Amino acid sequence: MHELSLCQDLLAQVTAIAQAHQAVQVVRIVVWVGPLSGVEPLLLKTAFALLCVGSLAEQAELVLETRSVQVFCHDCALLSEATANNLLCRSCGSGNTELKAGAELILARVELTCVA
Ligand SMILES: [Zn+2]
Repeated sequence: MHELSLCQDLLAQVTAIAQAHQAVQVVRIVVWVGPLSGVEPLLLKTAFALLCVGSLAEQAELVLETRSVQVFCHDCALLSEATANNLLCRSCGSGNTELKAGAELILARVELTCVA
């Protein structure tokens, strides 16, 4: 399962951040999910719930924020929003575009509880 290995990476990052801040608990984890990342949000949440047991993130709320798809047009040099199944330039309709955003899975924010 694709989501399981992604979650292992995610949890490793979160744990490293928590330890660096000497946190006792991770409260919230915000992850940006691009529509083209191939990640199924529900599976990601399920995998995370399984993996985080016994870790600092066991009680954490996992928030998945969907990101927009953006393409850069090589013909008119415009960065425009696209959709997962239509990557043509919004401005000139060219298919000579490059995906700039939408395929990523990014750890955006981690909220921690630290010892005073
Ligand atoms: Zn264009």
